[in-house]
Amino acid sequence: MSGRAQLMWDEAVTGYDFGPGHPMDPVRLALTMRLVEAYELHRGPLEVVAAKPAGDSTLRLVHREDYVAAVRRASADPASADVAYGLGTEDDPAFAGMHEASALIAGQSVGAAEAVWRGEAEHAVNFAGGLHHAMPGGASGFCIYNDAALAIARLLELGAERVAYVDVDVHHGDGVQAAFWEDPRVLTISLHEHPRTLFPQTGWPEETGGEGAEGSAVNVALPAGTGDAGWLRAFHAVVPELLAAFRPQVLVTQHGADTHFEDPLAHLAVSLDAQRAAAESCHALAHEHAEDRWIALGGGGYAVVDVVPRSWTHLAAIAGHRPIDPTSSVPEAWRHEVFRRTRQLAPLRMTDGRTPYWRDFADGGYDPADRLDQAVLATRRAVFPSHGLLP
Ligand SMILES: [Zn+2]
Ligand SMILES: [Zn+2]
Repeated sequence: MSGRAQLMWDEAVTGYDFGPGHPMDPVRLALTMRLVEAYELHRGPLEVVAAKPAGDSTLRLVHREDYVAAVRRASADPASADVAYGLGTEDDPAFAGMHEASALIAGQSVGAAEAVWRGEAEHAVNFAGGLHHAMPGGASGFCIYNDAALAIARLLELGAERVAYVDVDVHHGDGVQAAFWEDPRVLTISLHEHPRTLFPQTGWPEETGGEGAEGSAVNVALPAGTGDAGWLRAFHAVVPELLAAFRPQVLVTQHGADTHFEDPLAHLAVSLDAQRAAAESCHALAHEHAEDRWIALGGGGYAVVDVVPRSWTHLAAIAGHRPIDPTSSVPEAWRHEVFRRTRQLAPLRMTDGRTPYWRDFADGGYDPADRLDQAVLATRRAVFPSHGLLP
């Protein structure tokens, strides 16, 4: 089975639709899948699998019964949405079929977890997932069910003893952190824009895990404006050492594309090329430190034509062991499809024309006056000693 990779996909995930004007436009998922197909990744490199929706017993691994009941009610009658559960809000308006669409996305991540844990696939991708803000008892930040936390909970249920979660979305992975706050079996690492300037205003380096799980939550709070070199420097100054020390049996990663400089909702300045480099690093780290098991999820990303489809097609191609040359031209048929669906012009190449590089934290030292280095040091000081590492 070695080398096999699955892409979790059911076209009905595009029913996760908060309606016109909402930034989380499901066209980003459809356009990503069409680009995957244009590169023929579904013919060989990736086996496309549609998993069943997450059932109640699975949802209950993370979510409270009363919350799931509230989602079901809002799904059947959107006018009855209860804002006490975060439903019917500006971020999470209720829509008909909300429960079904959310459970289907969660099911794809849970299915990915099952396939990878059982050895049916080495890697599995669900770019419709990564809904990392959903809390055990409430919706938040465009997220209803937390498929990332559910996948991890399912891995634990299947017998995993150490699972690592790495979240490179521009927003803090607060829901996943909350779900496993007191669970030392799950290491959550989130790199994000500083909570002072961005939703959900958490993810401070001092948030390091609950009692009995000290050091199991890791937060890197990056200054607004951080670009490729700083973002990759921070990733490499924190993630590889922690994974080497923690020795996960599975690596779950969340690849929100909203770190991009074109993203309308946040303030980092990362390019597609650095996003691709981070995906490659996650893949390599899964082989190096996580027994080859890798589950890669999507996440945020609101430049729905220019950024998201290319970013996640690179991710899927990397998982399928057929990476796409960034200099390649975007297939013409896909560009027509983009125009047909959005009346926007699609990008021409699979690159932003950047060549990602970073200076390694270990050699050359750090600059105590540099805000990026201060952020990295704050994180290392907060958690590295808990893992027997020097800050
Ligand atoms: Zn985000
Ligand atoms: Zn691989």
